[in-house]
Amino acid sequence: MIPEPIHPSLLEETRVTSPKCPSCGGVMGYDPKSNQLLCQYCGYNENLSANNDQIKELAYHEHNGQEEIILLEKEAKKVYHCNSCGANVMVDSDQIKTKCTFCTADGILEEAFEHRMVKPAGIIPFYLGKKEAELKFTQWIGQGWFHPSKLKKAASLDAMQGVYIPFWTFDFHAYAEWCGDAGYHYTDYQRVYLNGKWINQPVTKIRWEYKSGTLQHFFDDILIIASDKIDPKFRTGITGFRLNELVNFDMRYMMGWQSELYNQNLQSSYILAEQIVRDQVRNMCSGQLGGNVQKNLHVSTTLSQQTFKHVYLPIWMSAYQYNGKIYKILINGQTGKIYGDKPWSWIKISILIFIFLFVVFAIWWMRENGFVD
Ligand SMILES: [Zn+2]
Ligand SMILES: [Zn+2]
Repeated sequence: MIPEPIHPSLLEETRVTSPKCPSCGGVMGYDPKSNQLLCQYCGYNENLSANNDQIKELAYHEHNGQEEIILLEKEAKKVYHCNSCGANVMVDSDQIKTKCTFCTADGILEEAFEHRMVKPAGIIPFYLGKKEAELKFTQWIGQGWFHPSKLKKAASLDAMQGVYIPFWTFDFHAYAEWCGDAGYHYTDYQRVYLNGKWINQPVTKIRWEYKSGTLQHFFDDILIIASDKIDPKFRTGITGFRLNELVNFDMRYMMGWQSELYNQNLQSSYILAEQIVRDQVRNMCSGQLGGNVQKNLHVSTTLSQQTFKHVYLPIWMSAYQYNGKIYKILINGQTGKIYGDKPWSWIKISILIFIFLFVVFAIWWMRENGFVD
């Protein structure tokens, strides 16, 4: 077999890394607390660079699928493929996985991975360790009055899994020309014959005004998840990252952590980002048109200078069981925000509705019987 040509930029940045501690031979991994590589056994540590000078935007239309191969062995990584859900999960080469991270199916297989993929530009390292993630869950599960009182005690949390999830970010320059009719409410009076006499009755009318204009806007870092393994109801919410804290991609931040290889490609993700931008442009033009009501808004948008980058962002994934039901949760590994469902307490909600109806009835009854005016 003819070896694949290695991209020069990839070569100089790739370091042979090993999760083995050079001091004691124990397992090393990225530690969110100290923000460095740390050996759990002897405390040996190595600093990681937090620079972001290598994070470059790539021109979308010039890219033409110039994917670069991932050199997994050089990075001391391997990939497991799940036949049930199709996920490709990357772990340290000294680890053995038996269950899928995403669908928990058994019998996942290590794959000889040779796919050409776009190289990641940046990563936000985990800030939240496992203990902090569990603590966030404990606080979150106890919040809110409308959930069962015993939820906090009875919810049993599965093991937390820290996974770097792949994302695309897109930048756009947008230029739009718009026109439309803005309607302004005003009050007019009309004479009506009511109860045996003529009166001036106020009526609301609309004065229409034609307007047109142009709009220019730069959209920075529209974030699109490059994984279809995250529950669709969480995909929009989970994009709440502070992207200004991205650092140069370094595989060593993934040491001791799992990561997913993207399965939503650049082109299909671009289409989603473009739609988000076009919708936002339309809203902004509508804002410029103004008025109390609007009609005939036409927006013609030209997009240019589209750029993209592939980034990895940290997410804690888990699930908890309550009354035999499984509830999935996600925790943003940077901000600690939790996304998940909680069971409702129908007894508490019923009591509240009953109290509300009782108060309404009591007020009505007192009025009817002359206790209040
Ligand atoms: Zn050590
Ligand atoms: Zn799976």
